[in-house]
Amino acid sequence: MDDASPPRTLRIPKSQVCIIKHPGAGNVCLTVLQNSYLEEWLPYKSRYLSVLLDMKALPNVMACFVCKAEGAPYRCMDCVHHPLSCKTCCIKQHKFRPFHWVQKWNERFFEDFTLWLVGLVLHLGHTRAPCLAGEGSWEDAASHVDEEWEDIEASQQLAHLNPLNDRNYLTVVDTGSVHFCNVEYCNCPGSEDSHLQLTMASLFPTTTKAPRMAFTFQVLDDFIRDNVACGTSAMNYYSKFQRVTSSAFPHLVPNRYRELLRVSRMWRLLKLLKWQGFHQQLPDPWASELVLFCPACAQPGINVLDQDINLSESIFYSLLQRHC
Ligand SMILES: [Zn+2]
Ligand SMILES: [Zn+2]
Ligand SMILES: [Zn+2]
Repeated sequence: MDDASPPRTLRIPKSQVCIIKHPGAGNVCLTVLQNSYLEEWLPYKSRYLSVLLDMKALPNVMACFVCKAEGAPYRCMDCVHHPLSCKTCCIKQHKFRPFHWVQKWNERFFEDFTLWLVGLVLHLGHTRAPCLAGEGSWEDAASHVDEEWEDIEASQQLAHLNPLNDRNYLTVVDTGSVHFCNVEYCNCPGSEDSHLQLTMASLFPTTTKAPRMAFTFQVLDDFIRDNVACGTSAMNYYSKFQRVTSSAFPHLVPNRYRELLRVSRMWRLLKLLKWQGFHQQLPDPWASELVLFCPACAQPGINVLDQDINLSESIFYSLLQRHC
């Protein structure tokens, strides 16, 4: 700034300012009160409400945002601007976003719908293209039934929460909510097992035989962050998904709390093995070999000189506990 130019002053009414004195330093800090921001917003309250209500209404033009065809009934609630689309464009646009929530205009209102009901199929292998070998025989499909599942009777469920009882319909938990997905595996000779094909698509299967459920890698990372930073339990974390998936009927959403507990343990182990550089060629780690490096600990030769560590083992470890 030019030294000759006068200092800039900001004029704020005294009633909107809080004076904070920092002890010792003698400095005085002016902070705008939160109430003043609320007062600024209040005149716009009705306008904000009308914007929210307009989103629930039928738009003036019901044209597909891609092909411009009239009468496009689907809109995606996870895409920006909630664009309307026809069936073909909705499937094309979500080929790589299979866990977006869509709604369908039913001549009265937009009702909850899902991409598998629109017709989206998630192809595994062949860079997301259909497998030329067609569908497999799935001999293993009947060989494994997770007896812990206590599903709701199909008759009680809503259409978008009630996928066909078919081997290919997978329950997927993503960061947003619980989804159902129509999956087609690669059946070419020599193709990987179905649970490994899911893993390669960043979906962690809950079983290795005939998987019927998977968690996305993103939701497993998100659960660890939530658990560590917010202290969220697995029970609370999963019940949030049930509420988000269906706010009116959360009890109709499949309860996969126990699967979350089990899979998150596997995920944590895999992450630790990856971070510590273990791979197939190395033997299994010994006790304490998966502990994360702590820069605050005394590390002989790294943050303390070797000759400084001249303590009995018990004193050395008591020092460590005090600093970590
Ligand atoms: Zn279209
Ligand atoms: Zn979308
Ligand atoms: Zn194939």
